[in-house]
Amino acid sequence: MNVKKVDHIGIAVESIEQWIEYYRDVLGLDYTGAEVVEEQKVRVAFLTIGESRIELLEPTSDDSPVAGFLVKRGGGIHHIALSVEDIDASLEAHRVAGARLIDDQARIGAHGMKIAFIHPKATGGVLVELCQKPP
Ligand code: ZN
Repeated sequence: MNVKKVDHIGIAVESIEQWIEYYRDVLGLDYTGAEVVEEQKVRVAFLTIGESRIELLEPTSDDSPVAGFLVKRGGGIHHIALSVEDIDASLEAHRVAGARLIDDQARIGAHGMKIAFIHPKATGGVLVELCQKPP
């Protein structure tokens, strides 16, 4: 498996508007706008830190997985995303190793990235997102 870098760290928040000031204005990170990812029922905002990014995740409905996370944990680090060269090969490597997957198949996430989530039980307690840039 070719993991290239930590692509981003996902942080669950009640409201992007509430927290964008801190990340953009206090930390001074580059903010390029938010987008809704319907399939995951979230609105996401990316802030660039060098080669990596922070992704703020805000639920767009009460049955969003991020809404459930906020109820249970009250916000905070939701997932760590690793950039891989070939997401299908990475998922296959997980299957071969018997590692528990949330997504059997890659799907399309924010910015047209191919993404798939690995179960925290397979990683030591952290939700891991694999992502591959669109060609
Ligand atoms: Zn993410």
